[in-house]
Amino acid sequence: MLVSVVIPLLNEEENIGFLYDELKGVLITLEDDHEIIFIDDGSKDRSLSILQGLQRSDDKVVVVSFRRNFGQTAAMAAGFDYARGDVIITMDADLQNDPHDIPLLLDQIRAGNDVVTGWRFNRKDTFINRRLPSIIANKLISFTTGVNLHDYGCTLKAFRHDVIKNVKLYGEMHRFIPAIASGMGIDFTEVKVNHRPRRFGSSKYGISRTIRVILDLLTVKFLLSYSTRPIQVFGLMGVVSGGIGFLLALIMTLQRQFFGVPLADRPLLFLAIMLIFIGFQFVSLGLIAELQARTYHESQNKAVYYVRSVYRKEPVGGQDPA
Ligand code: UDP
Ligand code: MG
Repeated sequence: MLVSVVIPLLNEEENIGFLYDELKGVLITLEDDHEIIFIDDGSKDRSLSILQGLQRSDDKVVVVSFRRNFGQTAAMAAGFDYARGDVIITMDADLQNDPHDIPLLLDQIRAGNDVVTGWRFNRKDTFINRRLPSIIANKLISFTTGVNLHDYGCTLKAFRHDVIKNVKLYGEMHRFIPAIASGMGIDFTEVKVNHRPRRFGSSKYGISRTIRVILDLLTVKFLLSYSTRPIQVFGLMGVVSGGIGFLLALIMTLQRQFFGVPLADRPLLFLAIMLIFIGFQFVSLGLIAELQARTYHESQNKAVYYVRSVYRKEPVGGQDPA
């Protein structure tokens, strides 16, 4: 079995050396062969030259360098495209994931699982802006997709390659792969993994990612349901609320005309009701716009990333393999 370790990174110059040494120390103890695929997601520091150095001294290292920053999900998609392994392991470059957990994941793959996801049970991030939003997001994702996991956000995961070959990834979607894959009928499990504080550099994300994750969730839900149900639900809501609104307006007009009941007593109530329905409208419009944008991207066959160059044992030009 060939194991491909896929590592997206952005400006991680201080971490790469330590990461490589620790990871390599684990990989050489495996009975399986391995390759390490680093995706440089448009770093502005010395990350790329450090990676090139590693690649020159180790034939098992592949470096894919992006033209600009396309985000962690796109970088992961590139890693899947370039990986040749039967099993793919994904992890962060900042040493927060512990390479010593890799054999645990592989054991679960050998036991017959198609996807194994890490659960950072002792997560070393701040509570209020990282762990709390993540707890809420995990509950929400589990509820919406029906696939219960403690930790969707953990990058340390293992996949059988054929399971993810045809999964298209957008936005913040890499974290939803287990849910998407479960829709395909695959077997998955969760294992507790170690989590460590970031040693060097700083996190590339803030609270805004949680919002993007939740918006992506709507689209994932749509993709998973294999039907037009979400749009029909909004359509039905429109018909019902429009009908009620019309009835209320009719009643109030009649009351005013024939019984002199004033309309202007509770203007705030009108505002509240209006806002609620405007809210629904914007959410549904947003969902439609999102799906539309994705359909457009797919119809144009647009790449989610552009590669500047690839460094590996056999020199290959800078074209994406897909
Ligand atoms: N990363 C990336 N592209 C980005 C942002 C982040 O490849 O646009 C990489 C980053 O270098 C790291 C991983 O994704 O290897 C996770 O990022 P980070 O540690 O900042 O996230 P956190 O652990 O704080 O959730
Ligand atoms: Mg991190």
